[in-house]
Amino acid sequence: MTEKFQNIETKIIHAGDPKPTFKGAVSIPIFQSSTFEYRDKDKDREVKYIRLSNTPNHTALHKKLAALENAESSLVTASGMAAIATTLITALSPGDHFLALDCLYGGTKGFITNLLSELKVSHSLISGNQPETWKSQCKSNTRVIYVETITNPLLQVPDLESLADFARDNNLISIIDNTFASPVNFRPPEFGFDLSLHSCTKYLNGHSDIVGGAVIGKSEWIDKIRQNLKQLGGSMDPHVCFLLYRGIKTLALRVRAQNKNALKIAQFLESHHQVKKVNYPGLQSHPQHDTARHILDGFGGMISFELKGGLKAAQKFMDRVQLAFIAPSLGGVETLLTRPVMTSHRGLSPEEKARSGISDSLIRVSVGIENPDDIIADFNQSLH
Ligand code: PLP
Repeated sequence: MTEKFQNIETKIIHAGDPKPTFKGAVSIPIFQSSTFEYRDKDKDREVKYIRLSNTPNHTALHKKLAALENAESSLVTASGMAAIATTLITALSPGDHFLALDCLYGGTKGFITNLLSELKVSHSLISGNQPETWKSQCKSNTRVIYVETITNPLLQVPDLESLADFARDNNLISIIDNTFASPVNFRPPEFGFDLSLHSCTKYLNGHSDIVGGAVIGKSEWIDKIRQNLKQLGGSMDPHVCFLLYRGIKTLALRVRAQNKNALKIAQFLESHHQVKKVNYPGLQSHPQHDTARHILDGFGGMISFELKGGLKAAQKFMDRVQLAFIAPSLGGVETLLTRPVMTSHRGLSPEEKARSGISDSLIRVSVGIENPDDIIADFNQSLH
């Protein structure tokens, strides 16, 4: 639908815009109307209603998001979790089994271990970089493989090319949460993934002022997910559609600045004598640096690190930081810091933390678009 725009920077600005424009408006107005009039003569016309995700604001956004990942179709949802839950409920039925990456976002992990299990959908955890172990985890009722582009909070990069190939060869629906990479750094449909999910709350909107989600991919699946979204009710509001559409317009500028800033900050941290370990796919020391270089267009804006002084040093660092916000979430223009064991991974038992390598002293950084030298100066004074 958007072939005429070759490059992502142009798609970000123009894809999805209605032609002709609404009364000449360069920015699509907000259609804050829950319902839309229709007359008998229009009986073949689709009924427009916000929960059906078909107002002009939804339609424009769907076209733009599909274009960004070179996909057939897309659907926005009320949150990233609404996208994840609605997609998994659509792709899986009671009695089915699926493969899930062993280090998933906490909300997703909670959904699959609690609600999906209650719905009699079972899963096995797979390691993203051991393709030789995947086949033995498959059963006759395995239907889906579910992964993330870059894991949270250790920033591991699974072997995504092999994962997509494995799914195709074994007739599994491949679903990937692409939130951490954003379409600027990775476009899953280009690698053969069936469905790409986003928490638009993060990079896509980029301003830490909305909650939203998206499913991007094959029309056949998006149509089924849309049917279920109508019934489950997790649709996006037109005002949020408008804000997201606006936020996306600076996506390439923001994400590329965040890629650059994060590398500089990661290199600073790695060279600091008080820092024990830095996790960032752009560093040569990262175990999947070569994979990341091969498949990603940028290494992203997320870093995590541990200090030599352990938990006490981490607490002191967090207490001393002035510029960055101490807050959960990620992908906004401002730098955010968290300790995952206090936020996203709060529910893990000591054994689970040890098994997944998430220490009490781990600090996660969502790098913003400030001047990186100011962030480095702030981190430097916080380390003394
Ligand atoms: N996926 C990832 C990777 C996330 O980090 C998050 C939230 O932090 C979500 C999904 C859920 O998104 P939301 O908070 O928009 O529901």
